[in-house]
Amino acid sequence: MENKKVGQNSKSQIPTEICDTCRKENLAFGFTHLTSKDGGACQKLCSECYNQFHAMQSGFPRPETVNFPPVMLHDSVGKAHIFYFDVRLSTGLGIKSFELVDGSPGGYQFSVLEHPDTPVQEVYAKLYKKIEAGLAVRYMRSSDFGAELHHDRLYIKGAAVNGRICQRADGTPVVIVDGVEYTWEEFGETLTSHEGFQFRLECFDQCEETEISPNPQRPDPVWWLAKTDLAEQEPQYH
Ligand SMILES: [Zn+2]
Repeated sequence: MENKKVGQNSKSQIPTEICDTCRKENLAFGFTHLTSKDGGACQKLCSECYNQFHAMQSGFPRPETVNFPPVMLHDSVGKAHIFYFDVRLSTGLGIKSFELVDGSPGGYQFSVLEHPDTPVQEVYAKLYKKIEAGLAVRYMRSSDFGAELHHDRLYIKGAAVNGRICQRADGTPVVIVDGVEYTWEEFGETLTSHEGFQFRLECFDQCEETEISPNPQRPDPVWWLAKTDLAEQEPQYH
């Protein structure tokens, strides 16, 4: 999978903020707003200053906060995606990667969370592999009836779909699949190829390891038909 580092020019359209502690200017999405218990002024901390603050509070080792530059990666159909990174100390040492949509995190998002002693480069390497694996999978396919028929529709490609649950600023619930936003109605239409089937909806935290195959292996419900030698002896009806 081709990738390249993205130049600093990509920063120009993205909102930035100045950290109240180190006074450095950073991309706004990496900031944490801290409010004091006595109702004092809210503090805006960059990732590095927040991580140092959190390490003092939690007793975790102070992590090396690296400003990993944005990276461009391509998905399985060759579409480019630019990923930004945020190193964050929480219940462990985590890194979140995301695309920006209209200046805010959106599109594809991937996260990892490791033991707080883990070197940050090791956490990054794990996340990078997770992004590559995620981009290599595609869950939606077009019915591809041809442009003249004007009724191409999207359907799920296999039996399983991974995505992310989101909501728009106006509260509309949406899902993100293959890095693309769908309303639940649109998403529901993509499932009509499986009308009558059962389904199971299970939610996972972003840092959890989950099955990502669109066709996960399951026991064959008609295993007795799977024996090819038997199938060959059966008369064939068409
Ligand atoms: Zn700072």
